Amino acid sequence: TNQMDMSVFENLESAVRSYSRSFPTIFEKAKGSQLWDGEGNTYIDFFAGAGALNYGHNNDAMQEKLIDYIKSDGLLHSLDMATPARAEFLQKFNDVILKPRNMDYKVMFPGPTGTNTVESALKIARKVTGREKVITFTNAFHGMTIGALSVTGNSFKRHGAGIPLTYSIAMPFDDYMDGYDSLDYLEKMIQDGGSGIDLPAAVILETVQGEGGINAASFDWLKRVEELCRRLDIMLIVDDVQAGCGRTGTFFSFEKAGISPDVICMSKSISGSGLPMAVTLIKPEYDQWGPGEHNGTFRGNNLAFATAAEALNHWKTDEFSEAIEQKSELFLKRLNQFVEEYPELEAEVRGRGLMLGIASKKEGLAGQIAEAAFERGLIIETSGPDDEVLKMLPPLIIEEEAIVKGLDIIEESIKAVLG
Ligand code: PMP
Repeated sequence: TNQMDMSVFENLESAVRSYSRSFPTIFEKAKGSQLWDGEGNTYIDFFAGAGALNYGHNNDAMQEKLIDYIKSDGLLHSLDMATPARAEFLQKFNDVILKPRNMDYKVMFPGPTGTNTVESALKIARKVTGREKVITFTNAFHGMTIGALSVTGNSFKRHGAGIPLTYSIAMPFDDYMDGYDSLDYLEKMIQDGGSGIDLPAAVILETVQGEGGINAASFDWLKRVEELCRRLDIMLIVDDVQAGCGRTGTFFSFEKAGISPDVICMSKSISGSGLPMAVTLIKPEYDQWGPGEHNGTFRGNNLAFATAAEALNHWKTDEFSEAIEQKSELFLKRLNQFVEEYPELEAEVRGRGLMLGIASKKEGLAGQIAEAAFERGLIIETSGPDDEVLKMLPPLIIEEEAIVKGLDIIEESIKAVLG
């Protein structure tokens, strides 16, 4: 079998480099919050497929649903055609998510991934307002296509392809600059006809910036952004691709802030199973698409619809949210201990719900801890402009035992790296 494994590795080498990190093993199985490789090693998952596996790997109910659906000869690929799977998802989304929250939105399937929902959001905001520019924030991340990149505050990801911020105006995110009120500044500049900052079509933001380093905006700041948008008649787009689907404790990340975005971008864990799916929620008055104006081949993935409907069962009561909060507290207690007990980390704890990070001022340290953790059986990633944040994004269904074990591994790794 060793020989076979080697040849598999050779084939893998033929793929282009895309993900920034390569894991030196072949993963064969995964269930819940754990993965197994071909050599019998077990790994705890604090990464959850970059936030696409909030309900864990191979969730039993979703697996069953997939098998039943395939055996029923139901359509797998159906573009915009009506199918029972699509109808079930829409019904559940309305009944379990939107109606109980008094939210009125049209549901759009903009294409398979996060960047597709962002593109559709930018396009509809520009179309509805007839304006060109979009306000974005420092360290924002919205995707890899040119429109989404043009509102992404990461120069490494933009500059290789020479993508300027032509259609956007970048402003400091909440807390980016101590004591500096970027929202007042923005309002003044927009109102000052000579500033060159024309009235924008929209503001786009993540309530907790994931790729940008687990920067959580305060609820107060989010409310002020919304007030500004209402006052100046600017559309508010919340990109909930990573922070949504329960990641920060509530289904939408902005629920506790009490804001009401005009457009909401969702992907990653919306299918629940790791199958690609994206949703753009648009307030009914802004659903001004002409027929066929924004389409794409892969909008009707019925396997994704089937598991997405199943995933929404988690949200029928408040229990799931409460469990996330409890797990979050367990994490935060230990992470704060690490920061106190190991001052050499020069670190702070960031985040909300189960979207957490330890940001270290020491160059390269977070990456070294992540590598040491992998050797000890924990999959954990880094984020932030200098990869300075050890980023925790466990499946929301993770058991307490796995959390404790994962945190123990982080502590061992910190000790090993600090020497
Ligand atoms: N928006 C946010 C906030 C994200 O975190 C991501 C992915 N990390 C995207 C958009 C892009 O999603 P995708 O990679 O599925 O295109």
